[in-house]
Amino acid sequence: MAPRRIVIVGASLAGLRVAEGLRSHGYLGEVVLIGDEDHPPYDRPPLSKQVLSGTWEPSRTYFRTPDELAARGIVHRRRTRATSLDRDVSGGVVRCADGTEERFDHVVVATGARARRVGAWELPGVQTLRTIEDVRSLTEAFARRPRLTVVGGGFIGAEVASAARHRGLDVTLVEALPAPLSRVLGTEVGMACAGLYRRNGVRVLTGVAIEGVQGGPGVESVDLTDGTRIDSDLVVVGIGAVPNTEWADGGGLRLDGGIVCDASGGAGARVWAVGDVARWYHPVFDAHIRVEHWTHATEQAHHVARAIAGQAVGPMTAIPYAWSDQFGVKIQIVGRPSPDATFVLASGTPEQGRFVGLYAAAGRVVGGVGFDQPRAIARVRRMVAGAAEVGAAVQALAG
Ligand code: FAD
Ligand code: NAP
Repeated sequence: MAPRRIVIVGASLAGLRVAEGLRSHGYLGEVVLIGDEDHPPYDRPPLSKQVLSGTWEPSRTYFRTPDELAARGIVHRRRTRATSLDRDVSGGVVRCADGTEERFDHVVVATGARARRVGAWELPGVQTLRTIEDVRSLTEAFARRPRLTVVGGGFIGAEVASAARHRGLDVTLVEALPAPLSRVLGTEVGMACAGLYRRNGVRVLTGVAIEGVQGGPGVESVDLTDGTRIDSDLVVVGIGAVPNTEWADGGGLRLDGGIVCDASGGAGARVWAVGDVARWYHPVFDAHIRVEHWTHATEQAHHVARAIAGQAVGPMTAIPYAWSDQFGVKIQIVGRPSPDATFVLASGTPEQGRFVGLYAAAGRVVGGVGFDQPRAIARVRRMVAGAAEVGAAVQALAG
């Protein structure tokens, strides 16, 4: 029997895309989108770019107005936190913090991830960036022209540093590994990133960890394990994201650093998970992987919407893709670059600021990175999908 009521928990990119995908694939039953934020579903990538740089108002990130959601027959319950998931033979119930319950025939978990925090560093002036409230608070802080220390040389760290330099702030970035982004992209590309940040006026400190944050009530300094003290008024912590799975614990799902799913997003009978919270089996990599990037969340959502709407879907094989805008350079990443893979420069040089690099394992292309090379990256994505031989791939990209 066709499902009559779909409940989607998490009203952001992935949840919204499932809701709209259901409609575009002809699903006529009820669609309820539950979210704990007090906004229409909105887009996060511009928060650390256009909004923090001061070129967009936060409301420009809204995907849809409430009227547009209603016109698509999507019931959006804002400010509603799901607290548990109970399943039975025909579906189940999502219980919410306000005491309400939403009965479902199918449920889609799209609760994403939250910024990781360190309790010992909590002081006014120590911030993370995940939500519109975060970016509002950071934008206000930037206006006071603080000396900014960014902890973590990942995506958030780099993009916050970039936006802060755009606004003329004094910025120090601290990364415990030998180079920023090196866990994802390896040391060679990480060094190219460090060079880019330094040329743009960021003081980049690597290979050193944070001992503590001093001050009271606000931030005064950040102490490093090598004894360095960085005078600071504002600290942005970008040390990764934690999947929001706790509320669904007890629902009989397999939780292992995310909700473990098959290759189509199925997490159990009539239960699906998409986006940052989900760990899907990926047949190309023969592993369960959790991808924290926009394009993958969208692709998973469309896949699950089609499956629930009754269309035949096979395993999803889309190769992960991400971009990051840093200091005027568009960095694009495909596949699973990893420090264990061998890095091979395919064209350009990191010193020139424009290049394409491949990551190879057992002689096959498993990932790629480009600095301002969008056309080449589209080709690299196909090479990863086809497990191209690395020598032939380098030749093709050079030609
Ligand atoms: P989320 O966007 O995290 O949404 C989950 C939603 O569920 C949230 O609204 C949350 O409040 C809600 N929720 C959580 N728990 C509950 C509960 N119990 N009950 C109800 N609601 C709940 N990716 C790129 O590829 N390129 C980029 O340039 C890029 N830039 C980014 C910049 C920033 C600042 C951030 C934070 C992320 C960026 N990303 C980027 C990553 C991308 O935005 C995420 O992959 C994407 O948002 C994932 O969507 P999602 O819907 O799975 O999760
Ligand atoms: P991230 O990209 O995973 O990077 C986290 C960084 O913090 C890494 O360099 C990590 O180094 C470091 N770190 C981890 N624990 C630490 C600790 N205890 N002390 C100091 N440093 C530590 O995560 P993020 O930059 O915080 O981003 C959060 C989320 O937003 C992610 O989902 C990310 O994908 C998303 N996002 C994406 C984009 C984009 O795609 N353009 C932009 C912004 C945000 P180690 O390698 O040593 O662990």
